[in-house]
Formats: sequence, C-alpha cells, structure tokens
Amino acid sequence: MDDRTQSSFPAANPLLAHCLSGAVRQDWTRAEIEALFDLPFPDLIFQAQRIHREHFDPREVQISTLLSIKTGGCPEDCAYCPQSAHYETGVKAEKLMSLEAVLKEARAARDAGASRFCMGAAWREPKERDLDKVCAMVEGVRALGLETCATLGMLTAEQAQKLKSAGLDYYNHNLDTSPEFYGEIISTRTYQERLDTLGHVRDAGIHVCCGGIVGMGEAREDRVGMIAELANLPAHPESVPINMLVKVEGTPLARDSSLGASLDPLEFVRTIAVARITMPRSVVRLSAGREDMSEETQALCFLAGANSIFYGPKLLTTPNPDTDRDLRLLDKLGLVPMR
Ligand code: SF4
Repeated sequence: MDDRTQSSFPAANPLLAHCLSGAVRQDWTRAEIEALFDLPFPDLIFQAQRIHREHFDPREVQISTLLSIKTGGCPEDCAYCPQSAHYETGVKAEKLMSLEAVLKEARAARDAGASRFCMGAAWREPKERDLDKVCAMVEGVRALGLETCATLGMLTAEQAQKLKSAGLDYYNHNLDTSPEFYGEIISTRTYQERLDTLGHVRDAGIHVCCGGIVGMGEAREDRVGMIAELANLPAHPESVPINMLVKVEGTPLARDSSLGASLDPLEFVRTIAVARITMPRSVVRLSAGREDMSEETQALCFLAGANSIFYGPKLLTTPNPDTDRDLRLLDKLGLVPMR
C-alpha cells in the first residue's frame, strides 16, 4: 500500500498515540486535548469516527424531547439565558405545569419516537413542595415507558436521593464552559456548586447528563478547559450535550458582540469530535443551536461522533428544527432512532 494512504501521525507523536487509544480515562491533560483540537480536520474526524464505532452503532441516534415544565423568572444570571429574571427577553414567568399537562406532552413525545423525556424548570434549586410534584411527574412519565431526565438547578444530596427513589434516570446539570471563562457568564452560582450538584447526582445513582455551550465568545483554550473538566469528572457523564449559543434578544450575549461572537461551524464540529474521543462511551448530544445549523454541519457532527439530538419544536424557550425536518435529515443520512 502507498504510504501516503496511511495516517502516520499517531505513531509519530507519542502524545497523540496515547490520546487516540480509545481507552476510557480520567487523567486528560489540557496539552493532550489541545493537541486533539489541533489535528488536521480529516484526521480528527477519522479518529473520532473510528473510536465512535468501537462503542456505538454509527447508524443510531438517541432521541430526546425536552419540555419546559416551569418557564422564566429564574433568579440566576446566566448571560445566555432568556429565562433569567435579570434580563428583558419577553419570556413570561409561568407556574409549574400540572401533572396532567406534562403527561399529555410526554405521551405525544413517545408517539413521535422519543425514547427519553427531559423536564426542565427555571429554578436556582427546587423547593421541597415543588420537588414532590416533579417526583410525581417522573413516576408518571416512566409509567409511559419513557426514560426520564430532569434539570431543576442545584440539588442537595437528599433531593438527589428523592429523585432517584421516584425513578429518575438522568439529571442534567451543565458545567457550561471552562472554570476560567465561567465568571464572564454567571455570577450567581460558582463552578464548585455545579460540581457539588453533579457529585450528589452521581452518588444517588442517577445517570449524569453534563456538557456545555460554545460560541459565547470563549477562546479555544476555554473549549479545551471545558472538555478537560468534563472528561476528568470522577466518571464520564453518560450524556454530554454540546450546545451552540443561540443568541436571544435581551440577554447580555446578544447585546455584547465581543462575547457573543459567532463560532465557526467547523470549530463546533471539532469540539464534538474531541468530546467523542475523550469520552468514548458517552452519548454526545448535538443540542441547542441546530435550528441555525446547515444540514451539512449537522452531518459532520454525526460523523464526528454525535449520537443524540433533541427532537421537538422547542428547546425550553428557543426554537428547534421541526420534527419533519429532523426525520428527513436522519433519513437522508441513513440514520435511525436508537432503541
Ligand atoms: S440557565 Fe437555568 S439557571 Fe441559568 S438563568 Fe436559565 S433557567 Fe436559570
């Protein structure tokens, strides 16, 4: 075989050879992650796809549906979020939805092909009486044969246990970005508080869904730092959502062009590929931002190892591609929903 058809870089570079072994590791250095980001694009995508195929059926895409069960009025100040009470975004604060209304949405999601139903509430942390109501929702959604996921803000160890007893399968709590950039985005809760909640969730035996957002004006080194934090958690999150910032009028990231500068879609694809390589057994979710992404970019994300999407017309309060468009894209690419 002609030598030029062989990719020589892993053998030539011991640092990369270690990175590309496909092993599950929690000792990633930032230099290693940076070296992955720096790979020539075809090599990065090839290696991500190779590792992806060691752990997953490359045709399968896990489909989740996300419902906002309590919208708006959140006391936190996340600079990207239209639900924060700190910003004028036109999102009205609403009360927690009723159990019946949530179950109706869950049934519709199941009938449209979703295997997991995620319930999001715009809280700093849940109050006890609200948590009891969410536990009833978790039980009801599970009884419909769906996996359950919730994102309710910070949790104590006891609250995580309570959700586990109700049958919660996944809890979403994102790290958002690198520890260094974090202060530019949120001031009302610390990075450590996020890590503490993730610890309580893991200790309760609930699967962890944890990722971040790119395109917030962070540097490449912050994307490296975010992946390093995720990949060096005590156990890799079972689910890793990677979001592209959706700029919503009224939020600081929509106002401040230096922070909310658009990210090159190929850099987004690189971030997905590096998440796939560093967390080889995690489901990597192509999350917010798909509405503005071309089919070609989404196809590259699947090639880079993304194997989950949110499905449904809305992601909490921001638009998402309609389900017909998603089905057509999956069909065009020969992808099928994961069972
Ligand atoms: S991201 Fe969550 S915690 Fe932050 S403001 Fe929005 S709803 Fe509140």
